[in-house]
Amino acid sequence: MRIVLFGPPGVGKGSQARFLSQREQVEHISTGHLLRHAIRSGTELGAKAQSYMEAGKLVPGPLVRALAEDAVRACDYDRFVLDGYPRTIEQAEWLASFLSEAEVALDAVLSLQVPNEVIVDRLSKRRVNRKTGENYHLDFKPPPESVDAADIIQRKDDMPEAILHRLEIYQEETHPVQAWYRDRGMLVDIDGSGTFEEVYGRILSAIREGQPSS
Ligand code: AMP
Repeated sequence: MRIVLFGPPGVGKGSQARFLSQREQVEHISTGHLLRHAIRSGTELGAKAQSYMEAGKLVPGPLVRALAEDAVRACDYDRFVLDGYPRTIEQAEWLASFLSEAEVALDAVLSLQVPNEVIVDRLSKRRVNRKTGENYHLDFKPPPESVDAADIIQRKDDMPEAILHRLEIYQEETHPVQAWYRDRGMLVDIDGSGTFEEVYGRILSAIREGQPSS
């Protein structure tokens, strides 16, 4: 299974990818998560990425490319779900050539879609456990009492100004990637509204059917 989960920030792809990786024993490769880990670990790459991320901007492609490719290589080019990569057409091209050099290809790009107002609500009410990376939503999935409140944070890029900026960048740079994959017959549209379980069910049937839309 070689899948990309694609969609705007806040569409729920991170939570779905994490669940999918646990249920189907596939590697969840989130470039956002890898970058945040690099920042916490104080690496040179983390230091370069930090200001872009906090402002809700895209981190320069070559930095992210190395992270994503290393992670795909580490799982031997199979059984992975990419979350947050590729985010530009350039990155989609890099990924295609990287995989083709290893004589493999993506099975499908699953594109999750929800209305914009749902995205803003989800992002502004999102909280994260800074130790485990687990996501919460203040209304629908509040952090349990067993978790230390000091570990529950709001990401800087989930603050209102950064959210707007991320949505603009998504429209300008990331949304066109959808058409790029559609033109290649690899895109599967998935309705991202409804409960978590409903969306997961749609993702799973898309993977099992393996039927990209035309
Ligand atoms: P995410 O956790 O996927 O929402 O990513 C958080 C932030 O990490 C993004 O707003 C970007 O600043 C950065 N980032 C993650 N993936 C990429 C990527 N593929 N290209 C550029 N920047 C990225």
